[in-house]
Formats: sequence, structure tokens, C-alpha cells
Amino acid sequence: MPEYHTVLYDHVTPEIVRVAMNRPEVRNAQDLQLTRDLNDAFDHANQDDNVKVIILSGEGPHFNSGHGSGKSSTNLGYDDVRPVGTWANFNAEGAEGAMAREEEIFLQMCRRWRNLPKPMIAEVHGKTIAGGLMLAWVCDIIIASDDAEFRDLVVGWGIPGVEYFAHPWEFGHRLARQMLYTGDWVSAQRCYEAGMVNEVVPRDELRDYVETMAKNIAEKPSFGLKITKEAINQTQDHQGLWTAQQAVFMMHTLAHTHWRELTGRGTYDGPGAPPHMGSRRPPEEVTASS
Ligand code: ZN
Repeated sequence: MPEYHTVLYDHVTPEIVRVAMNRPEVRNAQDLQLTRDLNDAFDHANQDDNVKVIILSGEGPHFNSGHGSGKSSTNLGYDDVRPVGTWANFNAEGAEGAMAREEEIFLQMCRRWRNLPKPMIAEVHGKTIAGGLMLAWVCDIIIASDDAEFRDLVVGWGIPGVEYFAHPWEFGHRLARQMLYTGDWVSAQRCYEAGMVNEVVPRDELRDYVETMAKNIAEKPSFGLKITKEAINQTQDHQGLWTAQQAVFMMHTLAHTHWRELTGRGTYDGPGAPPHMGSRRPPEEVTASS
């Protein structure tokens, strides 16, 4: 069993694992340590032959507030862990290092999690912001509580959406445009109507609802589940999901580089960053919520 600093790993049943992000004080902001812990937890569940379904949830009042500081809560650095992707030179100056880091921890990591062969259910409550969307989207099924809200505000930084760009597939292009152009919250009910969310349930019933569904799924043959997941993933890729994600990631990198050229700083760093983006802490409206 790997050692986790920022996730809780529990068996609901021998066949169902719950991986809970556990940084409630920063609303589960995704730093390097959380990224590695999630990857280790998913790998561990995936390599456990008894496990058939993985649940991803978040401790505290909100599911996820997006990407935290690139510096880890545990001082973990890029040199401390073996990459899962093919990029390198994470500490290089300029776009070379910046692109390598985002390839590794956002695009390649999310792509890897999305392709894990066992079904994953995102159990989403409260607020989910920007990078948090990616964590829900890599799961097969998203169950949201009726108070859940979703937002991608990175166009405010001049960036065309989060690194794992899937908005048009998740919402259809109309709502994707609205969400990105306005940066406004989108309710769980609206996401349900658009197809991003499978079911919306009362907050106090969320956990039981997800675990009941997981038990239903776990009754199916393991190989049947895997090849069904593979069939749907391959269909999405033939529809252009992966091709588009790679293309948009180049625009994403260009946008970061543009900001750095204009300001001499990283996109999210220091004064002069767009309003409410002066740091990589969660927006005040999330940290103020309890
Ligand atoms: Zn980025």
C-alpha cells in the first residue's frame, strides 16, 4: 500500500474503493503531491484484482477548487517522482519547462486516469472550479449533489479552458462557449440537462446513491466492464476528443507563454494577474464557504 499524504484510500467493499481527496483546508486544490497521491491510489486500486469500481470524492465542503501551487504541500518536486508521461526537462527555462510540467501533471496524467480500465465514479458536491472539472471528467460517471456548481474561469487569464480540454464533449458546444466566455457558475441541474452529469441527488443522499450504483456495477463481469469502457473511450477518441485535446493544449501553452512575455511572470502569479486571480488560492467565494 503506497503512503498517501493528501488522499484517503478506503474499501467500501472488497470490490469498491473510495479515493477521497483530503486537503479540505484548501478545498482540495490539486498540487503536485495530490496529483501523485491520486495517481498512486488509482494505480493501487487498478492493480488490486478484486477491485472493480473506483469512487473519487472530496473531503470538506467542496469537491475541488482547481490547481494549487506548482510547489507541493509536501515540498515534492518534479525531480522527486518518476514521470508517467513522455515529457522531460521540467525545470527548463521558458516555455520548455512550463509546457513539460503541464504535459506531465495535467494532460498526460488526466489522459492516463481516463484510460484506466476500471469504471470510475466521480461523487461531486459543492463547488468545482477549473482544474477540478478535469478530475470529474476523467471519471466514467459523474453523480452530483443538488448544491453542486461548476465553473471554468481561465479565459479570464486569457487561456482557452483547462489543460484537459473536453468542454464541447461534456456540454455540447453552446454551453461550453457560454461557460468559457462568461466564466459563470453552471448548476448541477444545468450540467445534468447538458449531459455532463449523470444524476443529481440530494446532498445528504449523495454518498449512499454513489455506493449503491457502484455495487450494481461491481456485480457485472470485470472483463465486460473493461471492454465496455474501452469501447466508449475509443468511440470518443474516434469522434476527435484526443486529437482536439492535443491541439488545444498547444493553444493553452501559447496562452501561458503570451502572459509570461507580457508580464514576466507565470500566468497566476503576483500583482497584475486578473482580478480574483492574484494567487493560486481558491477564489474567496469558495474559501469563505463552509
Ligand atoms: Zn495551464
